[in-house]
Amino acid sequence: MSDEQLIRETRSGLFCEQGGFYIDPWRRVERAVITHAHADHARPGSGQYLCSREGLRVTRSRLGPAAVIETLAYGECQVINGVSISLHPAGHILGSAQVRVEYRGEVWVVSGDYKVEPDRTCTTFEPVRCHKFITESTFGLPIYRWPAQESVFADLNDWWIRCRDRDQPAVVLAYSLGKAQRVLAGVNPSIGPIYCHSAVETLNAEYRASGIELPQTMGVTSLPRRKRWGGALIIAPPGAAESAWMGRFGSAPRAMVSGWMLTRAGRRWNSLDRGFAVSDHADWPGLHWAIRETGAEEILVTHGQTEVMVRYLREQGISARELRTRFGDGDAPGQQRES
Ligand SMILES: [Zn+2]
Ligand SMILES: [Zn+2]
Repeated sequence: MSDEQLIRETRSGLFCEQGGFYIDPWRRVERAVITHAHADHARPGSGQYLCSREGLRVTRSRLGPAAVIETLAYGECQVINGVSISLHPAGHILGSAQVRVEYRGEVWVVSGDYKVEPDRTCTTFEPVRCHKFITESTFGLPIYRWPAQESVFADLNDWWIRCRDRDQPAVVLAYSLGKAQRVLAGVNPSIGPIYCHSAVETLNAEYRASGIELPQTMGVTSLPRRKRWGGALIIAPPGAAESAWMGRFGSAPRAMVSGWMLTRAGRRWNSLDRGFAVSDHADWPGLHWAIRETGAEEILVTHGQTEVMVRYLREQGISARELRTRFGDGDAPGQQRES
């Protein structure tokens, strides 16, 4: 495979010609291998899909009941036309997987989105040895270093208690798939009741059905509009921030939970009262740890801060280049992007 790439960019997405499949294609294709269920990776309309068994329910909820979806357990192998495919935990959201592709002794790994720090809403990231590693780089700048999750959630709990003491609800904006469930798993449910936007509540149900324990929650819309919300924690997607739906909470304090909250520019978005820096992506040290662990001879960087990352890797004597994909398309800090 010296002159021909086992996985290459095409108009429809990352393509393995020998195996006849695409990985997270952005157009409709015959055969799609899906790293995880976020919208920039799992797009509806393809002929058939392959995803991790852990991710089946959330992927199904995104692709719809008619989609043809096969699954593999983590580490399990499928051979298509001499190409062996297996999926390995990416630690990003429930069911997220790195895709390992092997053909005639050459091994490529496509990371999808990943996070190296363990959390209890999904299986922890596992490094996979390979020759070529296609890595995401959403937070690929040296300024991104996550604080310990426990201390961030302790701050979030304190803030919720202070809202409760003033008889106000605490509104938390968190991406509905993955981040909202991490918030649920991280907060102290003894502080007060927890209510969720329907987009969040739907995915909470998929997480629970997939075996992830979450505290009790209730859908906001099932309750009378004039209910008193003081002391409650409200979890809604960032897209609901300016909606009529939000009107029922009046001038309740708002916080956002996102990796972008680490910087002041991120926190300025949308007149937030607080920002809590919890991310589902690897930070700068996490990306470099993961890259080193693969032992790869070439790193292909995509999804985010590609230029800085490629330059830095080359300075370290590691062969690296940018790979153009549409993952994370149309995103800007503080928008609805997952983070
Ligand atoms: Zn993602
Ligand atoms: Zn992504």
